[in-house]
Amino acid sequence: MAQKRDYYEVLGVGKNATDEELKKAFRKLAKQYHPDANPDNKEEAEKKFKEVNEAYEILSDKQKRQMYDQFGFDGPQGFNGGQGGYYSYGSGFDGFGGFSDFGDFGDLGDIFSSFFGGGASRTKTSTYARKGADLKVNLDITFEEAYSGVEKEISINRNEKCTQCNGTGAKRGTSPEKCSVCNGTGKIKQVVTTPFGQMATQKICTHCGGDGKVIKEPCPECKGKGINKKSIKLKVKIPEGIDEGQTIVLKGEGEVGSNGGPKGDLYIVIHIKRHSIYARKAEHVLCDIPITITGATLGTEIEVPMVDGTKETYRIPEGTQTGTKFTIKNKGFKSVNGNWRGDFVFTVVVQTPKKLTKEQRELLVELAKTMNEQPPIKKKGIFG
Ligand SMILES: [Zn+2]
Ligand SMILES: [Zn+2]
Repeated sequence: MAQKRDYYEVLGVGKNATDEELKKAFRKLAKQYHPDANPDNKEEAEKKFKEVNEAYEILSDKQKRQMYDQFGFDGPQGFNGGQGGYYSYGSGFDGFGGFSDFGDFGDLGDIFSSFFGGGASRTKTSTYARKGADLKVNLDITFEEAYSGVEKEISINRNEKCTQCNGTGAKRGTSPEKCSVCNGTGKIKQVVTTPFGQMATQKICTHCGGDGKVIKEPCPECKGKGINKKSIKLKVKIPEGIDEGQTIVLKGEGEVGSNGGPKGDLYIVIHIKRHSIYARKAEHVLCDIPITITGATLGTEIEVPMVDGTKETYRIPEGTQTGTKFTIKNKGFKSVNGNWRGDFVFTVVVQTPKKLTKEQRELLVELAKTMNEQPPIKKKGIFG
């Protein structure tokens, strides 16, 4: 496959472009590259036009844009083709999506769809296949689960094909009849005046709602809709190192499509519960470790609890100040994008004893006599 251009580059906008800026850039380029506006260079224009449309389709969708920013075109290395197909976002980008969702583009949507015809499914059959809706769920996991990876079972409610009527919506033993208004095409032709001249466009038949079929006796199970809401349990594999707000995509686990269209996708947004000891910064684990006043003064060996439950022995040097940070390399989170790990960074907090035995107090009093009463106040440099 040819190297794809970055979507932001395609639209000529910055990474932080607002929805408004995206829309503006898209409208401008869509007009510029509309094949009818480029009669001498139709093929090239169509290619450009598709590229622009694809970029806009992804970047104008908050979820898809986030996925793209996070993982690029093909998802992180090593996760493609993994179990359940998570992150297998690659194929989702190469479809030309159709123009069903042109929304605020108004009449232009009709022009584009009549021009491209939406492929075979739209021109050869009476109605075109539509992809099912994408679903989104939030999933809470613990800090440790994010660290080590985990398999979770989730429940979702989604529309499934009705088993009684096999999705036709017609009562068992009957079948939907051809719509007499549009003659089963689902569309009614119209000629309209557009910025590009007079064009034939198609409007959806209101009698059959574009299905091309009318149901005389609806299926009692789904009331003629051909679909039923069902509660489904799914296993989700969460890769180690996943961070707050990251999304796992299960392709084809969204709602059922219509007219034989593919199922939608399921987006699982990960939320990580706060931990009582650990915090996270990028791929690093942060933690406060208390040490005694004598350990800090004389130096000591401490046991540092790692997120995976193991312990690391660490030598604290003598004369350690409270607030000093120490790093244990490669004991942080695994990167979802690559094969490396962050570090475990802990900050020592020197504990001033609140209760002393008589003996300890006497020893400290003796110690105090040998030390300056108050340490000199250090001047702060410009760098503090
Ligand atoms: Zn049914
Ligand atoms: Zn009709």
